[in-house]
Parts: sequence; C-alpha cells; structure tokens
Amino acid sequence: MNNYHTHTYRCGHGKGSEEDMIQSALKLGITELGFSEHVPLPNYRRFLMKSFVHSLKSLHGFCSFVRAMILNGPHMRMPYQMHIEHEKTVKELKHKYESQITIYQGYECEYFEPYLPYYRELLKSGEVDYLILGHHFDKYPISDYYYGKKHLSKKMIIDYHHDMIAAIHTGLFSYIAHPDLFLMGVEEFDELCQKVSYDICLEAKKYHLPLEINAGGMRRGFKKMSGEFVYPYTNQFFFQIASEIGNEIIIGFDVHQPQDFNEMIILKLREFARENQLNVIESIEMKEKEF
Ligand SMILES: [Zn+2]
Ligand SMILES: [Zn+2]
Repeated sequence: MNNYHTHTYRCGHGKGSEEDMIQSALKLGITELGFSEHVPLPNYRRFLMKSFVHSLKSLHGFCSFVRAMILNGPHMRMPYQMHIEHEKTVKELKHKYESQITIYQGYECEYFEPYLPYYRELLKSGEVDYLILGHHFDKYPISDYYYGKKHLSKKMIIDYHHDMIAAIHTGLFSYIAHPDLFLMGVEEFDELCQKVSYDICLEAKKYHLPLEINAGGMRRGFKKMSGEFVYPYTNQFFFQIASEIGNEIIIGFDVHQPQDFNEMIILKLREFARENQLNVIESIEMKEKEF
C-alpha cells in the first residue's frame, strides 16, 4: 500500500513531524510515502494583496486575509522560507529509512495561474519528485474563495470547472487530489454538478491523470445530498461517474496527523472503491526533471 498525500505540522493545521509520519506509515505497512505539503509560495504577501478588495466582502473574509498576511502562510501553508528545512528533512529521512520505505518529495498545489512557472521550476530543479493538484481556492487563498465552503454559488462551480480543466492541461500534476471538493458545500447533485463531474472525469481520462479517493473527506462523516447520505468529498455521485468513464483511481490518506494512518480508513477506502467498481491503481508517475 502506498500514500502520496501527506502533510505535517508545517502547514499550520496539521500535527506531527516528517519523521512521526514515516513511523506511523511504517506501522501500517506503507511501502511508498510521498510528502505533499500545501505548496509554499514565494512572494505570498504580494499575491495575497491582490485579494484585498475581495476580502472586504465579508468580515470572515477580511479576518482570513489579515491572518494570512500576518502569518505569511499558516493556517494554510508553511511560510515560503521553511521549504528549505522541510526538503532537507525529507532528504535526510529518505536516506535514514531507505531500507524500509521509499520516500518522495511532493507538494499539493492549487491552480494559481501566476504560480504555474514556479511549479514548473520546482519539478525542473530536481528537488521535487511530483506535484498533485489540490484545488482549494478560486484565484486567491482567502475564505470567500474557498471551494469547500457552504452554499457554493453557481458562478464558483463554473469557475471550479474552468480551473480544473485548465489545470489538467498543464501536464504538471501526477494526480488530482479530491477532484470532487466543490461538492462539499452543495446540497443537490443537479445538472450543473453532473456536467462538471463528467467533464473533469473525461478530461482526466484523456490526459491519463488519476483521480483520488480522499480519506480526509471520509473523516468528516456523512452529509445529505439529493436525499442520500454521502461523504462531503469522495462523493458517491461523483465517483459513480468516474467509474462509468473508467478513470484511474488512486487512494490518498490526506494525512494531517500520525493517527490518520490507520487500518479503519483503509477498509473504508477499499470498500468505497469496491462498491463503486473503481479502477484503483497503486502508484503514480513521478514528474521530476521532466520539464
Ligand atoms: Zn487538499
Ligand atoms: Zn491535502
């Protein structure tokens, strides 16, 4: 069993160090482990400043803006400078544990257009083995633009659709984390949701990009959607479509603390895959130096 979706305390909302995660993964018999922190972004404050006007729309939005500006990253991602220490730590642990487990360095990235050249550089540098697409925000990482928020507007669903397709076309990513995140704040799986889901699955299939069934969505428990109880993401409506299209499916633990590696979640993920007749693959394509 492999897992390429691992966070640590460095993202500001996780617990446990890189080594804690490795030891927990080893106990569960994981053979390949990838670290995929929310990608640290250079000139983050300058990028955030562009969202200032938008953040004024709500008190919550403004507070999230101020917090992100002060902390220069957390609660969402590590400050840019910390990436040096993180990558150094991963490299050291890779050697320390090489006889027991294969470690990869990755990052989880939003489709933020201004940062696409930077993502490419990360892969080119050889320091990063792979990137996964985890598209949490529309344009700027502030709460009003969060795709997982309640009562997601039609406009935001359309923006999500647009961004996901554009992100698939970049060829930068090794897989798509929680491709159904937009369904988290949606109550009815209507025609628009159906169209967006079909398009994402079809395009991902065309570009040989695996889709993830994400344990994080399962850890949130069930919610009601179109009269059925489903996970807010790793959503049955979405993955029935992925099953029909025949997408490649990868399991992602989306670990945020060492205990997130556990037998129970593996059982749930495997059961979900079986029930929806998903085509589960075990490993992903590394993109290092391809660009
Ligand atoms: Zn994510
Ligand atoms: Zn994640």
